[in-house]
Amino acid sequence: MKVCCPNCHSKARITSRHEITLTIADLYCQCMNTKECGASFVTTLAFKNYLNPPLTNTQQLAAHLLGSLSKDQRQALLQGDLFRINS
Ligand SMILES: [Zn+2]
Repeated sequence: MKVCCPNCHSKARITSRHEITLTIADLYCQCMNTKECGASFVTTLAFKNYLNPPLTNTQQLAAHLLGSLSKDQRQALLQGDLFRINS
C-alpha cells in the first residue's frame, strides 16, 4: 500500500497501525523525504464498500431465496421454467 505525505507528496513509510474497528485503522506514517520535509502524520484507512459481495454472502442469499420458494417453484427453477409457472 502506497501512502504519500500530505505536505510534500513524497512516498511515506507506515511505522505502525492502530485498529479503531474491524474496518477502520489509523496508520502512523513518516515522510521519506527527510532532507526537505520529514513530517510524521496519521492517516486513516477505512473499508468503503464491496464491488462484489463475498462468496459466502452470495451463497447465503441464494439459499435464503431458494428457501422462500415452494417445492414446485424450486423444481421449476431447476428446470428453467420458473417464469412460466407464474404466468
Ligand atoms: Zn513530506
